[in-house]
Amino acid sequence: MSSIHNYLKSGVEDIIPLLGLLLKKSHAELISISNYQLNLEQKKRLEVLIKQRQKGKPFAYQSGIQGFYHLDFKVTPSVLIPRPETELLIDISLDLFPKKQAVKLLDLGTGCGIIAITLKDKNPHWSVTATDFSAAALRVAEQNCQADISFQQGDWFAAAEGQTFDLIISNPPYIPAGDCHLAELTFEPQNALVSGADGLKDIKIIINNSHKYLQKSGYLLLEHGQNQRANIVKLLGKKFHNIQTFKDYNLQDRAILAQIKN
Ligand code: GLN
Repeated sequence: MSSIHNYLKSGVEDIIPLLGLLLKKSHAELISISNYQLNLEQKKRLEVLIKQRQKGKPFAYQSGIQGFYHLDFKVTPSVLIPRPETELLIDISLDLFPKKQAVKLLDLGTGCGIIAITLKDKNPHWSVTATDFSAAALRVAEQNCQADISFQQGDWFAAAEGQTFDLIISNPPYIPAGDCHLAELTFEPQNALVSGADGLKDIKIIINNSHKYLQKSGYLLLEHGQNQRANIVKLLGKKFHNIQTFKDYNLQDRAILAQIKN
């Protein structure tokens, strides 16, 4: 009754990753030991995991790990779970500068650190600063990082006062308050998701202040919501030029790159 085989055939949603997490086995390994009978303790723990999933707890918060680009990141409920869409920001950044340039990067609202850490791993000679107003998030980011990144606590640019960068990147909160999409995201920190009535409150702050922190011809790269492209192009207004917009894997508008005018 409690063999792996029976669980695999049970039709319980996500039973494969849940069994894998419980028994620390891959799908292929689970199949190869499918006659194994779970003991009482394992059955109890599996029931808890199944109930949590049924209540909507994201699998990443159960496993405590989420893959992003070529790395695995520790995640806790203090940080947003990395999304595949955000990998677009990495691809855009990697194409932006000559290979050997010692780029100064600022990642605003780093969360568990995915943007800063991935780009530093790909470009160890870059100088990387990452900020977040959440001390709990920064602690997770620091645990994810083996490289030399400057993590600073503060609201948007507060922790970068007096410094300038070649590239400022942010995946800020951008969902409008009251958006129906939020009903599926209740386990994640709301202040990492929601940004005022139109979802643009934080993006406005970033756009309106970034000129003070960008070097000559520096770039601003933002992730944004799918209906925000035209508004953001307008917000970039007179201070920026060479504006490029990018779609994600689902062909939704998702990122904007702009260069500061000098
Ligand atoms: N892309 C996320 C989502 O829609 C939102 C992330 C964000 O607000 N930065 O689930």
